[in-house]
Amino acid sequence: MDLSIVVPLFNEEESLPELCAWIRRVCAHQYSYEVILVDDGSTDDSWEVVQRLRVEDAAVKGIRFQRNYGKSAALNEGFKAAQGDVVITMDADLQDSPDEIPALYYMIMVERYDLVSGWKKKRYDNTLTKNIPSKFFNAVTRKVSKIHLHDFNCGLKAYRKKVVKSIEVYGEMHRYIPVLAKWAGFRKIGEKVVEHRARKYGITKFGWERFVNGFLDLLSITFVGKFSKRPMHFFGLWGTLFFLVGFFSALYLIIAKIFNDEVWVTNRPAFYLALTSLVIGMQLFLAGFISELVTRNAPGRNTYLIEEKTGL
Ligand code: UDP
Ligand code: MG
Repeated sequence: MDLSIVVPLFNEEESLPELCAWIRRVCAHQYSYEVILVDDGSTDDSWEVVQRLRVEDAAVKGIRFQRNYGKSAALNEGFKAAQGDVVITMDADLQDSPDEIPALYYMIMVERYDLVSGWKKKRYDNTLTKNIPSKFFNAVTRKVSKIHLHDFNCGLKAYRKKVVKSIEVYGEMHRYIPVLAKWAGFRKIGEKVVEHRARKYGITKFGWERFVNGFLDLLSITFVGKFSKRPMHFFGLWGTLFFLVGFFSALYLIIAKIFNDEVWVTNRPAFYLALTSLVIGMQLFLAGFISELVTRNAPGRNTYLIEEKTGL
């Protein structure tokens, strides 16, 4: 299969028929493709609409969550199901245009990008709650991740299949998929200016809190990327250093005391410092050991329930 289009959706019943018809117009004669609609626990009739669309068009497939788990979980499940060589994600609300699909597909298949992120250069969202905070968010993410994208949060992105199969998206991490991809070792990350449209139906599902949650996740992902695979490598190194410095300083002072009592008078504080360093070293070592146990036995980050699937 050439192409999988993964669409996370939460209460988007009005948009879905239009979206699927549009995707079909663009893709039907060019690609073998599937559209995976992931219903993230909608409380409107979205799932009924998905089932109806499935009957009308065999390319449409659906997954329904037991409840609302968030966009990251929805994307993650879509990624697991995707079969296409290229995977494209797109919001359900018609803010992203399916007309961008062929160009994105070309960038992955011909120009050999691992990931191409859409850039909503001209946005049709509220300036105060969306555009300004997102400028700030993007600047911070750029600095921390050293990936030079203008618009990390754009829902329209394209991936080589291998990329989506090697990452796990959880929490608020959907904003950092390029960062996750980079950590997984995919280096060729590109950007394409995409058309952005005003929301046609329904309301936005994200407010300003997204930026606080997103920032906390950025810290956690930086931490995860650096230490979590082998915490012992981080804590163990510092632990050993502190321990050795403490141990040899203490030893030196004790030996010096045996040969010359005078030393003790001036160096008593240094001796205590050496002991402290020794204990800190042991503590760090222990911290590494414990985190090693925790990360080895940690359950998957995504624990969501699927209520129903169609076409998969
Ligand atoms: N979405 C989702 N789960 C949620 C919130 C949103 O699957 O808990 C979907 C939503 O239906 C849409 C996409 O994520 O397809 C982007 O959401 P939205 O359009 O509300 O975000 P915005 O465009 O305002 O940033
Ligand atoms: Mg939107």
